[in-house]
Amino acid sequence: MRVRIARDLCVGAGQCERSAPEVFAQDDSGLSRALTRTPPAAQWPAVHEAAGLCPVGAVVVTEDGAADRAAPDDRRETS
Ligand code: SF4
Repeated sequence: MRVRIARDLCVGAGQCERSAPEVFAQDDSGLSRALTRTPPAAQWPAVHEAAGLCPVGAVVVTEDGAADRAAPDDRRETS
């Protein structure tokens, strides 16, 4: 699994950090960023929960061997 935040979509709602605080954190701007791009398997359920709860689809999860689910223009500004 790989994960990133599409920061041009993030609105700082904070659900991702609450769901997976070892993987996501909000910075001083209030936007979230991924603390790691490759979370350990133990964190995968929390990452999936975060992706499901994000109101704007900014938690972008790529499973091994799968294409990135984000739109191409979402790739400019990520963390
Ligand atoms: S849940 Fe989504 S909108 Fe809220 S901080 Fe996380 S990435 Fe941003």
